[in-house]
Amino acid sequence: MNRLACPNLPVSWTAVLHLSPGFIIEYPEEGMKISDRLGISWEKMKRYKSAKLDNHQYSVGSFVEVATSEGECVVAYILEVRASDKNHVSVGVAWMYRPKELGKYTCDGKVLEGKQAYHGASELIASNHVDIIPALSLIQPVQVQQWREDGDDANVEGYYWRQGVNIHTKELSSAKKYCICQSPENPDEKMLCCTNEECMVWIHYRCIANITKKTAWENEIKRLKDTKVNHDDDDKQDITTSETGMRPKRQVCRPFSYLQAEEPWRKLFQAHITAEDGTKPSILISKGGEKVSEGPIICPKCDKSID
Ligand SMILES: [Zn+2]
Ligand SMILES: [Zn+2]
Repeated sequence: MNRLACPNLPVSWTAVLHLSPGFIIEYPEEGMKISDRLGISWEKMKRYKSAKLDNHQYSVGSFVEVATSEGECVVAYILEVRASDKNHVSVGVAWMYRPKELGKYTCDGKVLEGKQAYHGASELIASNHVDIIPALSLIQPVQVQQWREDGDDANVEGYYWRQGVNIHTKELSSAKKYCICQSPENPDEKMLCCTNEECMVWIHYRCIANITKKTAWENEIKRLKDTKVNHDDDDKQDITTSETGMRPKRQVCRPFSYLQAEEPWRKLFQAHITAEDGTKPSILISKGGEKVSEGPIICPKCDKSID
């Protein structure tokens, strides 16, 4: 991504954003040592609490959409507004990354790359990637909510962020983990809470679906093994073939691709979960449009049915 780059990154930093324990995002403490288009240094420019442009007001401590040189629109957090005169207004910003722009990074000791399954469509990542940009590149103010993940429900609308990336160490802060798969919540995806008071685990719909599909697959394999044809007379006689005609050409063998897949049940079966308020959640498994099984949802952690 080609954001409007600042030639000199700041040399002195102070911590302002504390994310998960031990993870700190640092922003500049002092002015950034660069000059504006008139050659006036950032430090000598007067500081303002906001800038007005095209009927929009851009305040320090708020979020803004910014046009990039590629015509894309990205989001930034306004750290400072400074100007040498009213025609030369500059804004110090910290970029909010989209997960796909992260490149390679570490999170909880693992090396990862780009967007993860738990990253939602409107998710942003706070960063300490700081630039000074002309106020003219600002498009409009935007709301960005910090999702603190301390409640049970992901109540996020529009842009939100919960993780931060330190662009110097390429470290991404941790996100709260759920489910038997121990991965964070994606607010675009549904989860179900186990109703057993001693368990109360939150489980992804996709994990419930996968486990139930796997059981359906195992049942099918068992059924196939049980219906063995009786071949008691096999291997006791010779057979002489009198077939005539063209020898068939050798066929290219096309194995069923799903049988070779690592988890064949994923594609072979379809799952539909019903969990409306007031009714007992249930899961329907089908194969090629035909019902295979239907029943209550069993918690994969405590093995009790979810009410
Ligand atoms: Zn899961
Ligand atoms: Zn449970």
